[in-house]
Amino acid sequence: MELKLLKGIGPQLEKKLNSLNIFTVEDLLENYPYKYNFINLVDIRKVEDNEVCSVKVNIIDSPKVQYIKKNFNRVSFAGMANGEVFNVIIFNRAFLVKSLKVGNNIILIGKYNRLKNTFIASSIKFNYEGNKIEPVYHLVEGLNNVTITKTIDEALKTNSYYDYIPSIYLDKYKFISKKDALEKIHKPLTNEDIKISSKRLKYEELFNFMFKINYLKKLNNKSLGIKREVSSSSKEEFIKSLPFLLTEDQLKAIDDIYQDLTNEARMNRLVLGDVGSGKTIVATYAIYVNFLSGFQSALMAPTEILAEQHYKSLKNILEHFNVKIAILTGSMKVKEKREILSLLKSGKINLIIGTHALISDDVEFHNLGLVVTDEQHRFGVGQRNTLRDKGCVPDVLYLSATPIPRTYALTIYGDLDLSIIKTKPMGRKEIITVVKKETEIKDVLLKMLEEIKLGHQIYVVSPLVETNEGLDLKSVFELEEKLKLAFKNMIPMDVLHGKLKTSEKDKIMADFKTGKIKILISTTVIEVGIDVPNSTMMVIYNAERFGLATLHQLRGRVGRNDVQSYCYLVSNKDIERLKVLEESNDGFYISEKDFQMRGQGDLFGVRQSGEMSFKIANLKDDYQILLQAKLDSEEYINTEQYKNNYYYKNIVESITFIN
Ligand code: ADP
Ligand code: MG
Repeated sequence: MELKLLKGIGPQLEKKLNSLNIFTVEDLLENYPYKYNFINLVDIRKVEDNEVCSVKVNIIDSPKVQYIKKNFNRVSFAGMANGEVFNVIIFNRAFLVKSLKVGNNIILIGKYNRLKNTFIASSIKFNYEGNKIEPVYHLVEGLNNVTITKTIDEALKTNSYYDYIPSIYLDKYKFISKKDALEKIHKPLTNEDIKISSKRLKYEELFNFMFKINYLKKLNNKSLGIKREVSSSSKEEFIKSLPFLLTEDQLKAIDDIYQDLTNEARMNRLVLGDVGSGKTIVATYAIYVNFLSGFQSALMAPTEILAEQHYKSLKNILEHFNVKIAILTGSMKVKEKREILSLLKSGKINLIIGTHALISDDVEFHNLGLVVTDEQHRFGVGQRNTLRDKGCVPDVLYLSATPIPRTYALTIYGDLDLSIIKTKPMGRKEIITVVKKETEIKDVLLKMLEEIKLGHQIYVVSPLVETNEGLDLKSVFELEEKLKLAFKNMIPMDVLHGKLKTSEKDKIMADFKTGKIKILISTTVIEVGIDVPNSTMMVIYNAERFGLATLHQLRGRVGRNDVQSYCYLVSNKDIERLKVLEESNDGFYISEKDFQMRGQGDLFGVRQSGEMSFKIANLKDDYQILLQAKLDSEEYINTEQYKNNYYYKNIVESITFIN
């Protein structure tokens, strides 16, 4: 149901709701409170000193207002509760003074200081009927909690929701109905209401999610790919050709891939490993096997810079096996591009490297057998559809540098097979990480100077504030000013940010690679995977703004050769959390810690599409429910009961259609 059909929603309110990602009445109903205010009236004689409480107060003299500064005032009056008389103070409520009439009763929420006989109130309520639990919603500017609560009240009167829990599980767990659950989550009367409604709504959300994952997995298991006749001696040949020894986990991943590719089931594998753990080599092996069996491969990187990097390193390894490699970029001349496209179509190119534009409409393959996608760029179902239309059913290999604990990976990536690379290549030095307060910035600058004198290069990263208008670029440019001043303009530096044109970015990156620029100041656009081995130091400002896993990924830009590298985290806040990075260089350990400390941590960013942004469930706290939902949805799929459910039948049909 459309939002505007709801009583009280005009165009302005609709716009505000839209900016909260609420577009329909169902969205509105699923916009759950993120916390509750518990208003339980207490006897003021019994409250602990300075404990937050709600008391019913009778106003016994007229309030006085003191204007302390602009936008800062203090209202005070005498009040009485449970026979006690005390002072009441509340700040910035001068506008309420007219409503605070002597003799009236009001509810005050705040803290009582017995020694000073003063109640410092944080909130006043005028109408009050009994004890109450108040839902608190996420807001945007110009929208207050009262308005959104009223709007949700209206939505609750409609039937614009669907119960996604199949009836057998509704019965099995004796869940309350969806209608009741929505009523209770938005307007709870007791703690119990919140508990039983949220449990049900979480299960519903996770069941729905796991159904899709499990169904995809089932399809993948059934889906036939290419059964390659390639001898397992290909492994030895490949390994022998490398200038280093593979780690145990790399060998294991290569085994997995060999099995997948020589088996008729279609490969759908994720290689999960820390930055620098050597995932590219593993993918290169897959490309090699695919080449031996006579098929073409495509390697997709998230950016052109990364694509070029891959092009160079894969050429080194694969060229003496006679693999013909080409790269396709947006900046290429039309003529050049056309030539590559025609070679690709005729099958004369064995491996094409580029961004995800690679599988766009005008690219035609002779016989595409394998697609490798690097760093998070998940291969959408839509793209698979494009390939299918071109007559290819390639095997797929994903590489991801976001290490997440195995248990969670098994569920949220439950439709993929996993190869996890934990062991690091030999001889890699750990990055020394130090957390510094802003007042200690001098230490950081001295260290920077030291590294520059050694001929090394440095990354400086600053977080950006995103406003509606786009990115606030002030911070990076201010930083550049400061650093120029500090180093008396003696050190060449430049600024890289997302608003630059691709050609400008490439130019700056190229200058950094060749060493023309010594300090690269940047937003987080320094892409995951960028490889400039001569850079040995990274400084991250306002580090508290980032999740630990993100910080860990960022610092993976340094430590790429055998020289000692450093990472300085500058922050005045959240020191304890940041210290985890001083302690450890293990991405899996770090993401586990992040997970413990911040709930979902960075996990939300992991699975790119909207499917991972849960509205009420939380992967960590609700892990048990997730496991249950996983089992139940598997059962639901295997017993084919979904065929009688309108909603799940539709999901299955749409997935089957696009797969
Ligand atoms: P990532 O997993 O971040 O993609 P890469 O595959 O780019 O890591 O590998 C990082 C660097 O380590 C590359 O220069 C690669 O050649 C090198 N490397 C990979 N595996 C090994 C190994 N087993 N021993 C030594 N160096 C390795
Ligand atoms: Mg990589």
